Parts: sequence; structure tokens; C-alpha cells
Amino acid sequence: IGKHIAIYGKGGIGKSTTTSNISAALAEAGYKVIQIGCDPKSDSTNTLRGNNYLPTVLDSLRDGKKIHLEDISAVGYKGILCIESGGPVPGVGCAGRGINAAVSLLQELNLFEEFKPDFVLYDVLGDVVCGGFAVPIRDGITDRAYVVSSSDFMAIYAANNLFKAINKYAPSGGAKLGGIIGNGLSAGYSKAIINDFADRTGTKAVGYVPRSLVVSQSELYGKTVIEAHPEDPHADIYRNLAKHIAESDELVVPNPIAVTELRDWAKEWGDKIYDLETGVLAGAAGI
Ligand code: ADP
Ligand code: SF4
Ligand code: MG
Repeated sequence: IGKHIAIYGKGGIGKSTTTSNISAALAEAGYKVIQIGCDPKSDSTNTLRGNNYLPTVLDSLRDGKKIHLEDISAVGYKGILCIESGGPVPGVGCAGRGINAAVSLLQELNLFEEFKPDFVLYDVLGDVVCGGFAVPIRDGITDRAYVVSSSDFMAIYAANNLFKAINKYAPSGGAKLGGIIGNGLSAGYSKAIINDFADRTGTKAVGYVPRSLVVSQSELYGKTVIEAHPEDPHADIYRNLAKHIAESDELVVPNPIAVTELRDWAKEWGDKIYDLETGVLAGAAGI
């Protein structure tokens, strides 16, 4: 029931910020939304519920008591149901199996039948380095994934790894890619790098979110930009992104780039954005 969407991306790239603002924009538009944080950091939904403490699903499972939905969820901005799957004790257990256990519990609790969400957003932890992190796109939990990326090489590298996982699992029923969400963009060439990467992998950028102080301030208030600064143009960027995600059913199986080729590609961009002779950065020169 509902569209189940996974959001991936390198650690610290802005997944939780972007996901929460998309959830807030969807809820503002009248949709019923559930956001499930699938990162052991368990801070995915903080800005949807004023930074209040929320016990994680895995912590509650460890307690061994009977779990009710109220124990592991909080109703946040405009009725968004917030859940944090949590993670293993650091250094113990498998984060991916934790996500599976959390989703199984939510199914046992009949969450999706009872809440009848229009959208369920899974904010998934960082880099896809193993099968564990691929659980939400591998096991039929979601049917589509988006990746948040800046134009930095390591962010693109992580996006390319996600593409490898989608490419592997999509033929057997895994999720496909909805697109790339550019985030934290400040330089003029950032968009061009992301678009070029999208072209080469047969994917598309579905939105570009600039770096903004409005985001940082809203986070300090424990709010999304949609809630803290609804009139700011930055809020409209998230609204447009949410509209696209709500309405588009264009999904693709990406063609990841081989690692050596990816490095050559990065180097080409290095030559383009930095002219070693003049030391002029292309961004500053207005490319
Ligand atoms: P992730 O969930 O990928 O680890 P977060 O969403 O927690 O990343 O973001 C990491 C930090 O970057 C946060 O402090 C957040 O406020 C900040 N941030 C994310 N996107 C933006 C943006 N567009 N402009 C300014 N700061 C941002
Ligand atoms: Fe961690 Fe992945 Fe290994 Fe699970 S499979 S323990 S998520 S590295
Ligand atoms: Mg996060």
C-alpha cells in the first residue's frame, strides 16, 4: 500500500535533510506519509518532530517486551508518521539485517494496512558497500530509489555503487532508479558534473538543491525548511522535488561506470574546472 521509496547517498550528503523536506512537502500537499529512518544514527526524522527522543525499533526489539506501534513511532509535522529502525550495538550484528527486522515488525503490526500511506520514504544509510545496505532495494521493500549526491567525487562514487546494486537486483524484482537529487550545490559547474554523470549512466537528475543557510538554521530549530521557512524560495525547491517524486513513474535501470573509467572521467572534469596554468576555477569564471 502506497509508493515505497528508498533514498540513498554517501554519509553526510544530506539524505535525511532532503528526505524530511520531501516528506514535509508531501504532507503539506495533503498526502499521508510515513518516513522510516534506516540509518543506525537514527536521526532521520529529527526535523519532522522537533528533535524529540524516539526509541528505535531495534532497541525495542532488544528489550523483548511486546511492542505497540505507539512505542516506536511519533506523529510529526502534518501527521507524518516517524519511525527509526535504529542499528545494532556498534561493532555487533548487521545493520542490513536490522532494517529487515524493523520492516518485518512493521508488517506484523499491520502498519501499512492501518495507516494507508500514500508514500513511505526509507532514508537508508550511506554507501552501498555490502548486501546488508542493499536490503531495501533488494528484497522488494521498495520499488524505486533516489540517490542524493553533490558533485564531489566520493558522492558520485557512492551513487555509482548504488547503481551497481540496482543493476544487479532489478532484473529479479529489485527496485529501479527514480533519479539523482543534486544537493549542497554551490559552484557553477556542480550541475554540469552531475548532469554529465547522469548522461553517462543513463539516468536523470530530478532536482538540484543549493547549499543554503536556511537549511542549517531550520535544522537548529529541529524543523524542516518547509515548516520553519515556508515562504522561502528554498522551500519551493523541495516542493517541486516532492511533486516530481509524487507524480513521476519514470524508472530506469542505470548503467554504472567501471571504477577505472570513473577515475578517468573525474580527471577529465579536474582538467575542465581547474586550469593549472592560470589557477582560475571555472566556477569563479562563470562556467
Ligand atoms: P545524511 O543524512 O546524508 O547523513 P544529513 O541530511 O544529516 O546527511 O545532512 C548533513 C548536514 O548537512 C546537516 O547538518 C544538514 O543540515 C546539512 N545540509 C544538508 N543539505 C544541505 C543544504 N542544501 N544546505 C545546507 N546544509 C545542508
Ligand atoms: Fe554491516 Fe553489511 Fe556486513 Fe551487514 S553485511 S554486517 S550491514 S557490512
Ligand atoms: Mg541521515
